[in-house]
Amino acid sequence: MSSAKTPKPDELIAIRYEPPEMPWMDTPTVFRPGTWSYSGTAKSLTALNLPNPRAWQPSDADWKLPENWKEIILDGMRERLEKYRSFKLFMDICVRCGACADKCHFYIGSGDPKNMPVLRAELLRSVYRRYFTEAGKRFGRLAGARELTVDVLKEWFYYFYQCTECRRCSAFCPFGIDQAEITMMGRELLNLVGCNINWVTEPAANCFRTGNHLGIQPGGIKDMLDFMADDIADRTGVRVDVPINKKGAEILFVTPSGDYFADPGTYTCMGYLMLFHEIGLNYTFSTYASEGGNFGLFTSSEMVKRLNAKIYAEAKRLGVKWILGGECGHMWRVIHQYMDTMNGPADFLEEPVSPITGTRFENARSTKMVHIAEFTADLIRNGKLKLDPSRNDAYRVTFHDSCNPARAMGLF
Ligand code: SF4
Ligand code: SF4
Repeated sequence: MSSAKTPKPDELIAIRYEPPEMPWMDTPTVFRPGTWSYSGTAKSLTALNLPNPRAWQPSDADWKLPENWKEIILDGMRERLEKYRSFKLFMDICVRCGACADKCHFYIGSGDPKNMPVLRAELLRSVYRRYFTEAGKRFGRLAGARELTVDVLKEWFYYFYQCTECRRCSAFCPFGIDQAEITMMGRELLNLVGCNINWVTEPAANCFRTGNHLGIQPGGIKDMLDFMADDIADRTGVRVDVPINKKGAEILFVTPSGDYFADPGTYTCMGYLMLFHEIGLNYTFSTYASEGGNFGLFTSSEMVKRLNAKIYAEAKRLGVKWILGGECGHMWRVIHQYMDTMNGPADFLEEPVSPITGTRFENARSTKMVHIAEFTADLIRNGKLKLDPSRNDAYRVTFHDSCNPARAMGLF
């Protein structure tokens, strides 16, 4: 994220929600410090085989675009309109009812109308109308259409990288328009001319190099897991196993790399180790499929597919029966919504059955991958875990409406 002085609380709540002075098409995009991310480095783009690797920043006047950048974007848009029915539909069916307008945290936190989901999508729709609809070609602005210019491209960059793809707005849309997918399309088009952010491209490039977003080498993962096992032994007197790359294990366990390396994920990971020890699970970690997260979701469908594929390739190599996944919103969004048509069905694996309770996870019939929350809930439901709820009596808890496991995959 670009550097900016930390705003004071009274500055943070001074948000103007009044209508803008000018029509949105005439309102210039201002890259406010602290609200945009640094560009993807040439090194990361080269590692990912993405176009136009170069040194540049969004604050530069010249973004060093390819000479035929406009043609590339419009060709890319045409290709995607033909390839993805949902994209074509979402470009056509919005009735501008405004039900989504105040549902985005970026709009609530900025007061910027272009952060309203309906208007964020309109940034793309206006160009779609101009080049791909008869009304837009003939009547231009009267039909809500506009030319694709460098300023429009910069506006896309600024607003499409401000959407977290959480789909909260989509839950309120009477037509089921998925704003996250529109954002993904916007970013795919930007990627075609090398306009991406390092927060996304570097973790994805790390995945290609070491198998995980954080760039942890296999030895580093082993050290961290052994360290956790030592810590567990110190505190509980119980020594847990840490199976890694174990061929013939029944289950491959995949979790985001934050769980190996960053608090509080490490506590979650220690919880996994203790749980699996307690129930005697025959499982293995993998240093190749050492990332559950999928930053492809912020890059392109092709990248989603490539990053997801390694989990299944590793399951095949190790000869496991099925896959158990730790908590990672983006991993689950990909598994639940995209994996099956991108890399599946994973017919070489078995339909997951809990070796402890005998429960058959029919919901994972095709992906062969079970979420740790549903796996653990099944253990509790079947009385396989002895829990003492009174130990948590001191805590007041609330449920965080997690965008991906909850809204996107209906787990809760
Ligand atoms: S709620 Fe749906 S139809 Fe209404 S403005 Fe938003 S995207 Fe368009
Ligand atoms: S998907 Fe989430 S972040 Fe993106 S526009 Fe909708 S509410 Fe905002």
